[in-house]
Amino acid sequence: MGNKRNELRENTNRSDGPRADLHLHTTYSDGARTPKEIVQRAHAANLSVIAITDHDNVGGIDEAVEEGKSFGIEVVTGVELSVALNDKDIHLLAFFFDHNDKKLLDYLSFFRYERLKRAERIVQKLNDINIPLKLDAVLDQAGVGSVGRPHIASALMEEGLTGTYHEAFLRYIGAGAPAYERKYQLSPVEATQLITQAGGLSFLAHPGKYTTDLELSTLIKSGLDGIEVVHPSHNEARQEFYRGVVDQYFLLECGGSDYHGGKKNDENVLGVYTVSLDIVEDMRNRLFS
Ligand code: AMP
Ligand code: FE
Ligand code: FE
Ligand code: ZN
Repeated sequence: MGNKRNELRENTNRSDGPRADLHLHTTYSDGARTPKEIVQRAHAANLSVIAITDHDNVGGIDEAVEEGKSFGIEVVTGVELSVALNDKDIHLLAFFFDHNDKKLLDYLSFFRYERLKRAERIVQKLNDINIPLKLDAVLDQAGVGSVGRPHIASALMEEGLTGTYHEAFLRYIGAGAPAYERKYQLSPVEATQLITQAGGLSFLAHPGKYTTDLELSTLIKSGLDGIEVVHPSHNEARQEFYRGVVDQYFLLECGGSDYHGGKKNDENVLGVYTVSLDIVEDMRNRLFS
């Protein structure tokens, strides 16, 4: 175990040897590129295994799997869910579940419906403070994808109603801002149970972004199988810290780029934030042996 961990440690972020990126967004949520395009870019970035992890949506997976076959890229089933911990928005990543599981699909379409209702409420609140954004402008941004605040921020920019993407969150739609609206969320326990019953594994996404260490320990007790260790928001020290937590609680690790197709100024992350294939193997072993 110790040796394997050390080996993994040395491997993380190294460019040689087959690599995996287990955190990618497409047009099925707030990414700019289709699942096909993501696979093509993953190939160009020398990735062997990828997971498409759209917010509340598994609609892009089959297209990616098909395209992956032409490039010899394995596409692992994935999704990113939002859960609420004491009113805080926490993201979970799930892998290896059955993406045709009826109960999971029902929940995901309910989450997307609730996202749409929430976008309507946000647009109403914006109109109330004299920001003349139309729902259609938001829906144009979202296309087939799950509607989220990133689409609202982009629509505000497109319509010249905000200077920058970030400003849209600060002034209007971020937590605490005047047009902020919560979305429907499960509790961490409900979400991990939903994933478990669909045959998958749940991970805490990018804890370094905003999860305190106290929240981390609460979340671990909610049935998480692992923690996202490699992520653009984690420096080396954070990665080491989370790897220590993973070892201590016999958890798994995952990692990836959280690439949104250049939408969030993240064009340079593909192929940089990767994990070794051993990590994918560890997941399979936890599930299937
Ligand atoms: P939603 O799931 O619709 O609530 O949107 C959440 C997404 O909005 C996050 O995954 C981030 O990509 C983005 N986001 C949230 N807060 C901010 C912020 N303050 N600045 C920029 N992007 C943000
Ligand atoms: Fe996103
Ligand atoms: Fe996230
Ligand atoms: Zn993400």
